[in-house]
Amino acid sequence: MKIGIDAGGTLLKIVYIEDRERRFEKRPSSEIDSLIGELNRDHTEDEIFLTGGKAEYMDEKLEPPTRLSIEFDATYRGLSRLMEEQGVSLGRFVYLNVGTGTSFHQADGSGQKRVGGSGVGGGTLIGLSSLLTGVDSYEDIVRLAAQGNRDKIDLQVHHIYAGRPTPIPGDITASNFGRILMDDLPNLSDADKLQAVIGLIAETVTVVGISLAEGFDTKDIVFIGSTLLNNGVMTEIIGRYAGLKGVNPHIIENGEYSGALGAVL
Ligand code: ADP
Ligand code: MG
Repeated sequence: MKIGIDAGGTLLKIVYIEDRERRFEKRPSSEIDSLIGELNRDHTEDEIFLTGGKAEYMDEKLEPPTRLSIEFDATYRGLSRLMEEQGVSLGRFVYLNVGTGTSFHQADGSGQKRVGGSGVGGGTLIGLSSLLTGVDSYEDIVRLAAQGNRDKIDLQVHHIYAGRPTPIPGDITASNFGRILMDDLPNLSDADKLQAVIGLIAETVTVVGISLAEGFDTKDIVFIGSTLLNNGVMTEIIGRYAGLKGVNPHIIENGEYSGALGAVL
């Protein structure tokens, strides 16, 4: 069996490949030592392929034979394979890996170039959510956020223009969290706040992605990373912002496993 592991800041993404079978698994990165123990005990005959920020740490402690890949190359290889399998065929495109933080890449048929990064990502989603509401589990955050309403939190362009014609669409955000009035605070639910947190992250990364796409002469933006998982609020915002600019967003199924898969390939 071949085992690919992308050991990230928050999650360990694991792919087990045997014959033609492929199985994906995720664990919190805090369980890295128990994963290492398990591999040293039960997988001594298997080949292990590592990538991600914690790959070297794993490599030092693993007994089975290992191979290390550079994260950005592995992710591009895995992503290319997943896109091919899912029939997503794009010439030039921009892709965003929305992990604990976010990295931005431009890709054409021949390879990828990392063009930037932002500390705003899935870690921000969890951190700000816990600070504002005390809710700290990812599943709870995305579930509750879908029931909220961020209208009283985010300042939209039409709020500023107050009925006068707006030079850009009135319903886009002028200032995330910019509308909060002290009088409204008691009326804001956790769900409202969580939706606004996701809004901040989704809009920030999408807007950067759109600018990069314009500069790279493409209309296609691919999104990967565990921050998109079951995250309807995030994917809805991505779709709406991309639509305003005539950009096509592509959310790749199992995209968060790109690095783990690419490490094996
Ligand atoms: P990294 O490679 O940096 O670990 P990922 O692409 O795995 O990043 O994304 C991590 C983010 O995914 C977290 O910050 C969180 O917002 C989100 N996430 C999705 N599912 C989970 C989960 N089960 N546990 C924790 N975070 C999760
Ligand atoms: Mg990662």
